[in-house]
Amino acid sequence: MKGEVGHQNTNEAVMSNTIDMQWNLVLDTLRAEFDENTYKSWFKPLALINVEGGCAIMAAPTRFMRNWILSNFSDRLKNAWQRVNISVTDIDIVVLSGFQGADKEIEDVDNTVSKSKPKKAKKEKKEAIRIVSDNSFGAPLDPRFTFDSFVVGKSNEFAYAAARRVAENKDVNFNPLFLHGGVGLGKTHLMHSIAWAIRENFPDKKVVYLSAEQFMYQFISSIRYKDTMSFKEKFRNVDLLMIDDLQFIANKNSTQEEFFHTFNALIDHNRQVILSADRSPSNLEGVEERIRSRLGWGLVADIHPTDYELRLGILQQKANSIPEVEIQSEVIELLARRISSNVRELEGAFNRMVAHSTLIGRPITLEMTQEVLQDLLRANDRRVTVDEIQRQVADYFNIKLSDLLSSRRARQVARPRQVAMYLCKHLTSKSLPSIGRKFGGRDHTTVMHAVKRIEELRQTDSVLEEDILHLERMFST
Ligand code: ADP
Ligand code: MG
Repeated sequence: MKGEVGHQNTNEAVMSNTIDMQWNLVLDTLRAEFDENTYKSWFKPLALINVEGGCAIMAAPTRFMRNWILSNFSDRLKNAWQRVNISVTDIDIVVLSGFQGADKEIEDVDNTVSKSKPKKAKKEKKEAIRIVSDNSFGAPLDPRFTFDSFVVGKSNEFAYAAARRVAENKDVNFNPLFLHGGVGLGKTHLMHSIAWAIRENFPDKKVVYLSAEQFMYQFISSIRYKDTMSFKEKFRNVDLLMIDDLQFIANKNSTQEEFFHTFNALIDHNRQVILSADRSPSNLEGVEERIRSRLGWGLVADIHPTDYELRLGILQQKANSIPEVEIQSEVIELLARRISSNVRELEGAFNRMVAHSTLIGRPITLEMTQEVLQDLLRANDRRVTVDEIQRQVADYFNIKLSDLLSSRRARQVARPRQVAMYLCKHLTSKSLPSIGRKFGGRDHTTVMHAVKRIEELRQTDSVLEEDILHLERMFST
């Protein structure tokens, strides 16, 4: 079906050789396909960014709008694209604040200049986009992400202190401030906190926060609308620029280049720059070496994975903020102990419990939690470590951990060792060589042999089979 459509319209696709023309055709198709209201609410506010690598990229003014379109109309939007451009295999929508206004303005422009020549209308339309997107080119700040709601623990105290310092000092002390850490550990939260605090402490300072992805799309659209001058101007005129998730610019060469120019211009003028990424500057593969090294010149602060105390603190704070919901303290402890992946997931679990309990009108108990969060608890448990497996297996077979890791070949330690290796292979994502190393520097062939041996024995030795089933259950409940 899709192929047919594409085939039938090949001529059309060849004819519409500019992407602006294609975009107009896509909009025409959609206008014909949907009722007036739907078209106006969802498709009209979209702006075309680019077509690259078979992907048509459009921009929506809000995240809500983007998600709605992608989950409700993505097939039809893609079909509309494929009818005018057979090379389009995928679509994407990015969020670009400033475009909502732009659309409104365009509408006004369209109305007022409808009688004038189309060329003029087009020029004014471009102007409208420029003006509106100049006014608000940063992303909105989340009101929940403040210093007050940020719980400090060992893993994040350094990053927190650095963030506070930047937010409270009028002078620029370390530039750039580079925050890095795994996903869901609070980088965005800290950046927004700084932005809120600066707005309060120094209302005259112009603070702009956006993701590296948004930076790139603004850059690309400025090229498309032949407006790079005002792009440069607006970014160089801020007092504090924050770019989140910088790893996104890896391998995007022209964006990287433009980012670096902006970065240097700001640093030269003693304006504060704050960046975040999921890894340290030196580990940003796909980013030019000279840029990487420059990123580390200021203060680099990393956020480590959470520990139990911090998770407990975060949950307790959340529980305190909703006194109307009763939560057993065992529940909080269970969540803190078991959901160790990241804070986002921890919060998600907590919110799910609260929603559930509010719906059925009962306090949150341990039992309820285990039932409601079954899948999540299990998923987190799959991330057992080699160390945990070794400890548990040693305990279970009642041997010393040091014996398990030793080179002793006596059956009563050799078999549990094989079981432990087998479990490591099945329950962790570690490779055979790295498992071998964890077992007193053994060779990967030893591990392979152990895995094979246990697989065989499971078929014939019912006692051992019971042992393994038991151990597996221990690691998955
Ligand atoms: P990142 O940007 O590092 O991926 P986020 O800043 O988006 O992570 O944090 C994920 C979620 O966890 C957010 O809702 C945030 O408020 C919360 N969070 C992370 N760290 C903390 C903390 N130390 N105290 C309170 N909430 C936190
Ligand atoms: Mg983030």
